[in-house]
Amino acid sequence: MKTLIVLAVAVLLLFPACLQASPAKSALEVVVLGSGGPRAFGRAGSSFIVLVEGTPRILVDAGPGAFLRIGELGLDLEKVDTVLLTHLHIDHSGDLVAFFNARALTSDGPIAYRIFGPDGKGLFPKTSRFVDLLVGRDGAFAYQKTFGAQESFTVRDLAINLDSTRTKIVDENGLVVEEIATHHGDCPSVAYRISYEGVVMVFSGDMDASALPNLVQLAKNADLLIFNCAVLDPPGSPSQLYDLHTPPRKIGEAARESGVKSLLLSHLAPDVEGQEAAVRKSIRGSYSGPVAFASDKLRVPVG
Ligand SMILES: [Zn+2]
Repeated sequence: MKTLIVLAVAVLLLFPACLQASPAKSALEVVVLGSGGPRAFGRAGSSFIVLVEGTPRILVDAGPGAFLRIGELGLDLEKVDTVLLTHLHIDHSGDLVAFFNARALTSDGPIAYRIFGPDGKGLFPKTSRFVDLLVGRDGAFAYQKTFGAQESFTVRDLAINLDSTRTKIVDENGLVVEEIATHHGDCPSVAYRISYEGVVMVFSGDMDASALPNLVQLAKNADLLIFNCAVLDPPGSPSQLYDLHTPPRKIGEAARESGVKSLLLSHLAPDVEGQEAAVRKSIRGSYSGPVAFASDKLRVPVG
């Protein structure tokens, strides 16, 4: 009897452990650090961490609040060495140095960053100049290069004309990152496609509808398209915003045309947040796959 009880207890103790043992890691996973845009209304500015086989590897944009969310989530930044900037508006880049700071203070050794972002135009510096203005020898935060860890920065400026070809910028151990130019008013911008083991996620960044042919091409058959949804269908948002952002109806058309398997809407504005049902209905007009709205700290496994 005593043996039976011991056995029963052992089975009870072990069985749940068996069920929970080594949960399968997704090939790719995205953690939303910031699901908002330039307005301060409780969401962090646009920022994401991409995990490869469960390990955080890539930072996509670094909007204000990313630093706070990284701490709240207890994310391990030790293997994050790739930074993809869609454009250099503050709501996508304001926390970049705060990210460098956080990453360095938990590092065991030197950090070699590779940073990608658009070339410069008008009021916007090219990304290499932007990084230099922050952490270069004469940069505002020059001290950061040796603060906590020895850091080096290799920055590549990406073509910004809409007729530029889609380009592969990372290809190592099965991890592939490609990019293509988009259009976001007067601000140079690009979109990114990340692939690993046949699983694909795409980040639109902020873009107006004039860049949709490029985005559709980049997002072809992706498992997840993260599209920044900052306006309502016309005339629901201020007219000048349509020179910067793509409305829901056109997001739905692009999702259908590119054949993406799921859609996550992020970079939400207060009016979009309040009109979820209308936005969803508009997208449903052409796209029948799953549509979700992002929130800060949301984790989405892919594949
Ligand atoms: Zn933005």
